[in-house]
Amino acid sequence: MTIEEIWDKSLSIIEEKVGSNLFELWFRPIKPLQIKEQQVTLEVPNRFFKEWIEDYYPILVNEVLEKLLGHPVTLKYKISEKEAPDIKRMEAKLENRKTRLASRGIYLNPKYTFENFVSGPSNQFAQAAAKAVSDSPGKVYNPLFVYGGVGLGKTHLISAIGNNVIDSKHDYNVLYVSSEQFTNEVVSAIRHGKTEELKKRYRNVDLLLIDDIQFVENKVQTQEELFYTINTLYEKQRQIVISSDRPPKEIKSVTDRLRSRFSMGLIADIQAPEFETRVAIIHKKAAMERISLKEEVVNFIASKIKTNIRELEGGLIRLGAQAALTGSPIDVSMAKNVLKDFIQDDEKPITVEHILKTVCEYFGLKMQDIKARKRTKEVALPRQIAMYLSKQLTGGSLSDIGKNMGGKDHATVIYACKQVEDKKSKDENFNRMIETLLHKIKP
Ligand code: ADP
Ligand code: MG
Repeated sequence: MTIEEIWDKSLSIIEEKVGSNLFELWFRPIKPLQIKEQQVTLEVPNRFFKEWIEDYYPILVNEVLEKLLGHPVTLKYKISEKEAPDIKRMEAKLENRKTRLASRGIYLNPKYTFENFVSGPSNQFAQAAAKAVSDSPGKVYNPLFVYGGVGLGKTHLISAIGNNVIDSKHDYNVLYVSSEQFTNEVVSAIRHGKTEELKKRYRNVDLLLIDDIQFVENKVQTQEELFYTINTLYEKQRQIVISSDRPPKEIKSVTDRLRSRFSMGLIADIQAPEFETRVAIIHKKAAMERISLKEEVVNFIASKIKTNIRELEGGLIRLGAQAALTGSPIDVSMAKNVLKDFIQDDEKPITVEHILKTVCEYFGLKMQDIKARKRTKEVALPRQIAMYLSKQLTGGSLSDIGKNMGGKDHATVIYACKQVEDKKSKDENFNRMIETLLHKIKP
């Protein structure tokens, strides 16, 4: 028998054992190369095939071949030369970067690069600023301050600056810390009388990346150290990059002079991605994870997971795992099922009752109080807030909302909305409270 004939026979046995879905996905693309004494060499399209087969079917192929050939077999997988050259190049670069990061003790995720960052209207400005900074550190925007909500790519983007600098400027001293870690280092340096070491470590870098700066709120000594670190680096024209979940003016408990340092360079925000950007991100992540998705599934995921790219990614990986384990192709109903924990239940409309209940809980009031005619201050404001939220969230008419609030007319609702909007624009704390309520009602 030739190697081709042997492999043909093996394939049909394997198909029987693993089922046709998995077979088509992982085994059909394998090509037989050579049989030499006891060694059989097979060619796989890329190293993921080798890893996948070794993980899920570590002995299957051996067993099948041994049975057909009647003698022990050692199996060798050769990775096809044809593996997409750009993927190969990226992987080589990644390995290279990993080694360099490790040898210099830099805690950056090597995968967080500009190449892997999908840009769209929601993040274009921040991305362009980050690129400019990484091309000429210390020269353009210093500090660069990037802010945005959870899971929208802040850590990815500021890490990309670091990785790009590591790739292109080999002598650059790069330091990445979260502000929590920085705080711990300051505390420990003070306790052990090692503040000189700390200063030396932080004030001599070429690029300092500080993630999630909001955690320095209320930490006086850390803020002090940070202030001088930023000053020193700035004077030496060394680059500082800061990320935060909110803009400098909303970071409350920091000294004014520190806040003004945050705002001294360029402030760039990242918004939640639009539908098209979400689609592009799903395509990119799916390609990187070798998960094949039909367009309708991509659209389904993009329409359901809207506000957090980390969740988008998590959902995708779960889907990929489910498909690999069950051997079924990914379709919309599988996606619906696997992603149900992630999906915001926006089919279920939000009711005025639900809003009232949430607002009452928040303010410690009883439903009947808020619906009654009482005009005391403790009730009046929560009632106005409930009306405002109902108008924002329920899509009901003004008079319906009024009725549900215990028989108020539509002019009362308009007045309430206006009051709340006024207050929101003037009072940052009030604004944040409304955001909190919005989030409670519509997580
Ligand atoms: P944040 O720090 O803002 O909470 P991260 O930077 O940790 O968010 O991003 C969460 C996940 O989403 C990461 O795995 C990241 O790679 C991914 N991600 C975020 N934005 C993008 C983007 N624009 N393109 C590709 N991946 C993204
Ligand atoms: Mg982060």
